[in-house]
Amino acid sequence: MATDTVQTEIEKFLGQGPVPLYVGGAWRPAHAGEVIAVQDPANGTLLAEVAAGESVDIDDAVNAANRAFPQWSGLAPADRATLLHRYADAIEDNLELLSSLESLDVGKPVTGAMGFDVPFAVQAFRYFADLSVHMRRSEPLPLPHMDARQIQVPYGPCGFIFPWNFPFLLFAWGAAPSLAAGNTIVVKPAELTPLTTLYACHLAEQVGIPAGVINVVPGLGETAGASLAHHTGIRRMSFTGSPEVGREVASAAARNLVPCKLELGGKGAAVVFNDVDVSDTARKLANAITGNSGQVCCTATRWMVHEDVLDQLISDAKETLAEVNIGPGSEPDTTMGPLVSEGQRRRVLGYIDRGLATGATALLEGGALEPAGHEGGYFVSPALLTGGPDNVCAREEIFGPVAYVIPFRDENDVVQTVNSSHYGLANSVWSADLKRAERVAERLVAGNSWINAHNVFAYGLPYGGVNLSGYGGGVNSPETYMDYLRPQTIARPLD
Ligand code: NAD
Repeated sequence: MATDTVQTEIEKFLGQGPVPLYVGGAWRPAHAGEVIAVQDPANGTLLAEVAAGESVDIDDAVNAANRAFPQWSGLAPADRATLLHRYADAIEDNLELLSSLESLDVGKPVTGAMGFDVPFAVQAFRYFADLSVHMRRSEPLPLPHMDARQIQVPYGPCGFIFPWNFPFLLFAWGAAPSLAAGNTIVVKPAELTPLTTLYACHLAEQVGIPAGVINVVPGLGETAGASLAHHTGIRRMSFTGSPEVGREVASAAARNLVPCKLELGGKGAAVVFNDVDVSDTARKLANAITGNSGQVCCTATRWMVHEDVLDQLISDAKETLAEVNIGPGSEPDTTMGPLVSEGQRRRVLGYIDRGLATGATALLEGGALEPAGHEGGYFVSPALLTGGPDNVCAREEIFGPVAYVIPFRDENDVVQTVNSSHYGLANSVWSADLKRAERVAERLVAGNSWINAHNVFAYGLPYGGVNLSGYGGGVNSPETYMDYLRPQTIARPLD
């Protein structure tokens, strides 16, 4: 699609009046006629109005998913995989459009969305489509006097509630394995960023994914989200977001005895030993906190730095941070966009203020920023703080371009400090001594330990959290696919 056509298509999509919700293959307003105002984070203006669903709309969506389930689950895996490959192709053909829309909605640099979010989402559909045709769904059970086997069967309608930081990619991470396994889905995207998830429904229609297989109901968390989490017609629930809301969703699912997967927040640490290439490590860590404006669940927000290399690492990181080009995500040379909302901006600035008021020191004073010509946007410049491990900024998830630096000298001490966090999503270890790196990586309590890199993702590499960061099998791996299937035994005594 030519760039002009992309812009025209985006304007048409956003300017259609309230963007309708998508249920049972039909586009329609919310029953109550309510809408959400979606803002452009770069200037605070209205991007679009979107239908705001409530419990009656969620009911319709779950019923539609239930009606579509027999046909979708009854397809041969190869036929479903063919449709999912066509879906991946359609997403790829619309790379520029989806990336521009994601950039407008979240504020992230369009180059980042084109280089990572959307292509990586394409790969999710291809990976799980291929996996689904190769995984065995029936295993014989070698038992005496019995002809027995265990089959793997899709659950039925699966519910998904997503956050706002990687809306399109997270949609793909959930939708791809569940659909490939033969389930139908009801999705409640984040109220701040529902646009690409809705656009994805147009593409699903175009490639012939049957009506009711994918249903998307935007709306507020306490209405549409809570209705979905409590719905008795949902057979499997997945939630990505904060631990506070995760608890609510998991309790609602538990009351219905519905299994629930939780992908929650984090407070990732990077443990930097004194034998690293300091400037390279500093550059990568600085990029980790500015990527997606630091609104990344697993990113390196606690920098545990060996005292021998502390001064140099901080000085090199500041140099990299000084080169960050902060501006609207739609501009091609922007390397860090605004935060997603005024609320998120207040949250991040509030953490910096509270951290400093309770004993932290600023190594780099970040804070509120209004780039010339971009008044009204939710911009924040990166900050580096330092102090003791009990400071609020060392303990709680800030979700912005802020790192908290804690010097260390002893390996056991640093492991203990990292593990004192209640979160357990992802950490990294940086050292030229790979034996030490492996040893420390194993001792850190989290779903993921990376070595000499941070934010490492690949299909086939399971990703998930423990403790406050969640439970339930994670994403991106064969286990994720199996999560969307339930076991059932078939047995016939032979006597
Ligand atoms: P959030 O928990 O506030 O909201 C997430 C979703 O839950 C939204 O769609 C919201 O509308 C909905 N919601 C809110 N209240 C609800 C309720 N009572 N019942 C049901 N649904 C409700 O999180 P957020 O601010 O959108 O996202 C940021 C959080 O997400 C951070 O903690 C971040 O670390 C986490 N996150 C985790 C991962 C991961 O893979 N582990 C990925 C991305 C983001």
